[in-house]
Amino acid sequence: MAVFSRVEKHRPFSALLQSRSTLNGLDRTIRAFYAHLLVAAGYETNPHECVRKACPFESGHIVISRARDRVSFPARFQLVAAMNPCPCGYMGEPSGRCRCTPEQVQRYRNKLSGPLLDRIDLHLTVARESTALNPAKQTGNDTASASALVADARDRQQQRQGCANAFLDLTGLRRHCELSKVDEGWLETACERLTLSLRAAHRLLKVARTLADLEQVESIMRHHLAEALQYRPATLG
Ligand SMILES: [Zn+2]
Repeated sequence: MAVFSRVEKHRPFSALLQSRSTLNGLDRTIRAFYAHLLVAAGYETNPHECVRKACPFESGHIVISRARDRVSFPARFQLVAAMNPCPCGYMGEPSGRCRCTPEQVQRYRNKLSGPLLDRIDLHLTVARESTALNPAKQTGNDTASASALVADARDRQQQRQGCANAFLDLTGLRRHCELSKVDEGWLETACERLTLSLRAAHRLLKVARTLADLEQVESIMRHHLAEALQYRPATLG
């Protein structure tokens, strides 16, 4: 969490959180966060703005047009965003406290457009944190060992292709994310069934490549593809 608290002190972060109409705020924030981590908690904007603003995800730059001027700024960043499951935030809680209707939930979720969600590689649902003062010790990796695994996986990517998996172009994707014929067929069938776009399929392959790197194996295998598929947003397939 150290990186989070460091980022929070930056002014553009607070500007994004405080502004409900983030059109200009997002411009400024994306420029200010070039090569940094952009953290947005529960930000809301209208779907058309989302489509327009989604372009830096792909291109790594943002174009600002004012009158006759048109300026391009570098805007390559990592976006981490969080939102509640429903307007009140208690949907799925065993207490049954949520009284939101399905229509209210749908309207709330529609504030994030499909094209924007499609460009976010990992979608995770997390349960509310326990309020126990002395919670039972969690199993699994602690932060230090998880961080070492990530650093190792990034090293593998740099040595293999000179960039992180997220920045592989089409040629790099074909060279470094090669699948066996059987797995290729399996993935094509899954993409057809879930009506995934070609862009989503490419992003999914990069996630699978990263999962293989985390396991320190050379080839992408079926279970990497299956896990990557689980991270697709449920509403988009
Ligand atoms: Zn609710």
